[in-house]
Amino acid sequence: MMKRNLIVALVVLISVAVAGLTAFQLRANGRQGTKSEHRPRLPGSKWYVHDMHRPQPRVMTPGTFSTQETPGRPPSDAIVLFDGKDLSKWQSVNDGPARWKVEDGYFQVVPGTGDIETKEKFGAVQVHLEWSEPTPPHGTSQGRGNSGVFLQGEYEIQVLDSFHNITYPDGQCGAVYGQHPPLVNVCRPPGEWQTYDLVFTPAVWQGGRVRIPPYVTVFQNGVLVQNYAKIYGPTKEAIPHYVPGAIGPLRLQDHHNAVRYRNIWIREIRPE
Ligand code: MG
Repeated sequence: MMKRNLIVALVVLISVAVAGLTAFQLRANGRQGTKSEHRPRLPGSKWYVHDMHRPQPRVMTPGTFSTQETPGRPPSDAIVLFDGKDLSKWQSVNDGPARWKVEDGYFQVVPGTGDIETKEKFGAVQVHLEWSEPTPPHGTSQGRGNSGVFLQGEYEIQVLDSFHNITYPDGQCGAVYGQHPPLVNVCRPPGEWQTYDLVFTPAVWQGGRVRIPPYVTVFQNGVLVQNYAKIYGPTKEAIPHYVPGAIGPLRLQDHHNAVRYRNIWIREIRPE
């Protein structure tokens, strides 16, 4: 009889222990990460996997895509550099106001007036801009619809009419000028609006030396043309030689061709 009572007591004890353990596990799972000591910590981070204490991403409103007829709307947190009205965010690199022509929702290079650049300087950025090549086309190679987008004021993503226009590959449209040809030639005919969407990270300096070089990823007309391309230095100077500092203006090139631009916006990439 005593032996039977002992077995019953043992069974009850084990059942209570199992139930208690299960309840604890359910509670731990239900807290979705507050029991972070049970989850791995991310490398080099103070956060654990699925950490509910991690800050929520900012809420923003996306923009809309452009059509040939109508420019799209920028995302809600973008800095609008040209909305079709004026060049108030720009200046001439030779000092003074930007002297390019604004009309009908776009602006156009006025040959001989010099490059223009943003008054504001930027570091790591996402950039959107649209351009249209002169039509009918004239000139050949580098002489046809040449302009350019200089990141940090120094690193040129080439703008050129490369639609049925052969030039050296590292100088055609979509190239990191003089360094990386585009992965493909995805140019539209002159007169049509084309887009660049790019991501740029400037060099990281340490003790007067570049620890991490600048990198750029570029989509032209929605197609990848530069995939995290390492920039070797300024695209007009000896390589390697980097621009000191972590910020610079966005600059557009006057290469004596009447290229048009519209719908230009930029988003600064901030760490989490
Ligand atoms: Mg150029």
